[in-house]
Amino acid sequence: MLYPQDSQIAGGRLSIGGCDAQDLAREFGTPAYVVAEEDLRSRAREFTAAMGDGEVVFASKAFPCTAVLQVFHEEGLSVDVASGGELALARKAGYTGERIVFHGNAKSAAELRAASEVGARIVVDNFDELDKLERLQAPVEVLIRVTPGVVADTHAAILTGHAGSKFGFSLAQAPEAIQRLTDAPWADLKGLHMHIGSQLFDLEPWRLAVEAIATLGTFGTYDLGGGLAVAYTHDRQPPTVAQYVETMKATADELLGPGKTLSIEPGRALVATAGVTLYTIESVKDVDLEDGAVRFVAVDGGMSDNMRPMLYDAPYDADLAHRVGEPGTPCTVVGKHCESGDVLIRETTLPDPKPGDVLATPVTGAYVYAMANNYNGVPRPPVVFCSGGSARLVVRRETYEDLYARDV
Ligand SMILES: *Cc1c(COP(=O)(O)O)cnc(C)c1O
Repeated sequence: MLYPQDSQIAGGRLSIGGCDAQDLAREFGTPAYVVAEEDLRSRAREFTAAMGDGEVVFASKAFPCTAVLQVFHEEGLSVDVASGGELALARKAGYTGERIVFHGNAKSAAELRAASEVGARIVVDNFDELDKLERLQAPVEVLIRVTPGVVADTHAAILTGHAGSKFGFSLAQAPEAIQRLTDAPWADLKGLHMHIGSQLFDLEPWRLAVEAIATLGTFGTYDLGGGLAVAYTHDRQPPTVAQYVETMKATADELLGPGKTLSIEPGRALVATAGVTLYTIESVKDVDLEDGAVRFVAVDGGMSDNMRPMLYDAPYDADLAHRVGEPGTPCTVVGKHCESGDVLIRETTLPDPKPGDVLATPVTGAYVYAMANNYNGVPRPPVVFCSGGSARLVVRRETYEDLYARDV
């Protein structure tokens, strides 16, 4: 099942965290991002249990919402931020500096100052950033981001560890960065960081990357980044959290030496399955083409609430919230936006979809809320947490007034 761990399907009706999906749609309107709080917590516990005394750092860009960050804070995770804004969210959620990792390939002097003021660990990406830190002269804990020069099998947009990536120091540049940060009196160099890409099914590229960074000397701390894949559909199963973490730990022990302090930075693997987006179907249109008929099922959201299909050809599944699991006919789920590319699901099957039906798209917790926008003047959806049969609004829906609230 693609739905969160505490979901149920009874008589075809979907409930999430004990809350009936159609009731949620009625109460909170659609589109709505529904989050199963218990799924977030159990993913966090799966990671922390597997990591043991290692550190689990939530890559907050996957779901940069205060309530989500609060849950992970309560579960003892650290947080990774990549901008002053994400730093502010982490602080709002209660994080203090020692559990904040600050990333980015274009950090401003102001962002570096803010990160140093709260005592965040800074992952140094380039020589210009090093110069900025030099001018700042604030005492900071640092890691060095290294681009290990491996190519993992994923979409080009989320591949980050290859030679030619805009992130980090190359293997050739890293020794100079290591030297400068070792010599700098203001810097406490803890070790190295790598992040080779996202939505990775195969564990082998990590091994190659660790092999590459092992050539740079010995450090106490290694942050191996994120990237564990998520099953967005039934097509392909990623490694389990336990398999992934065991591989990371064993690889680090073997290639970096025993007793290292290890961090990992899962993003999507912590939040994707907890999220279900609810839509209302507005129209159903059959179009005859030479190579067959297409049934367009148009919903009341689209590329404003989920950019991933357009950005990465990301696949999703969908169900009618009151007829889950019933056999259906092929449909293309499209959004309401003024672009032909506004397709949420190229092909799925739905049992006789009708206007007014509630459509649920599972596995929409990662990089969905995060990339929401106001295209076509569409207000961004609310976030609703469900747990133990009760639902609570944690982010309200935007209003039309919000759309012109920044006008001067
Ligand atoms: C995006 C990112 C992650 C998380 O990637 P996922 O695929 O969501 O696990 C971790 N670390 C860094 C530096 C990132 O940029």
